[in-house]
Amino acid sequence: MFIGAHVKSSGGVWNAIANGVQIGCEAVQFFAGSPRTWAPTLYKDKDAAKFREARAASPIRFVVIHTIYLINLASAKEDFYEKSVTSLVGAVAAADHLGADAIVTHVGSHQGAGFDVGLARVQAALRRALSESEGSPVRILLENTAGAGGTMGVDFDELGAMIRAADEHPRLGLCLDTAHVFEAGFDLRTAAGLEEALTRLDAACGLDRLAMLHLNDSKTPFGSNRDRHENIGEGEIGREGFRAIVNHPAFADVPGILEVPGFDGEGPDARNVQILHELTEGGT
Ligand SMILES: [Zn+2]
Ligand SMILES: [Zn+2]
Repeated sequence: MFIGAHVKSSGGVWNAIANGVQIGCEAVQFFAGSPRTWAPTLYKDKDAAKFREARAASPIRFVVIHTIYLINLASAKEDFYEKSVTSLVGAVAAADHLGADAIVTHVGSHQGAGFDVGLARVQAALRRALSESEGSPVRILLENTAGAGGTMGVDFDELGAMIRAADEHPRLGLCLDTAHVFEAGFDLRTAAGLEEALTRLDAACGLDRLAMLHLNDSKTPFGSNRDRHENIGEGEIGREGFRAIVNHPAFADVPGILEVPGFDGEGPDARNVQILHELTEGGT
């Protein structure tokens, strides 16, 4: 596993690279614009060039854009759904412009209509986003959820159903958030619990769909279905849980991106990166 973090990209998108390098990262994730407004982000060519230059001169080897929080690809409201699909397509275009590797998105909620009704909406959304960005190398990664409020992707079977619904497109992948996995009822506190989760993931989706992890400890208890992130080792998953995660061979070439509150409340920091390195066998 190589370690990355969600970083700020304010003041110029190229700053995301320096912000990641500064805390010891080899991967960065950031929002393209505000995560709470629909306005699409269109990078100027010179800004995108500056970003690519900064990346090429850095140790960063994986770049991912997180889509806005508003997106709901399962929404039954036509207007909201259209905006969501447009936003998803826009995020792929922005990532393409920057030379990013992937975008990661929350799928959304069926809002009580049931998984299968939501699935039909998600299917159409993903097919459109994939065909409208045909030829792009940017992967679309679906993130698992902690399971609150009819959210789509609470377990590996749901994630697998969405991948199959989108024709098992090669550019579709998964991002597993360790806090969400734990909150959804997979016990990542022990190596045995991790092993069981991976067996289930492999059966439902195929391990090769896994493109990245979000490395977050959980502030809420096992199976709570409530999503609150905590610094690594300070939450319910704990240091031993993360020791098993960072050293697992299934994650050998997978980026692990921190989305933790940070020890000074300013988001992912050098200390969290350091803790993960300490837990890595042979790490410093
Ligand atoms: Zn997310
Ligand atoms: Zn979360």
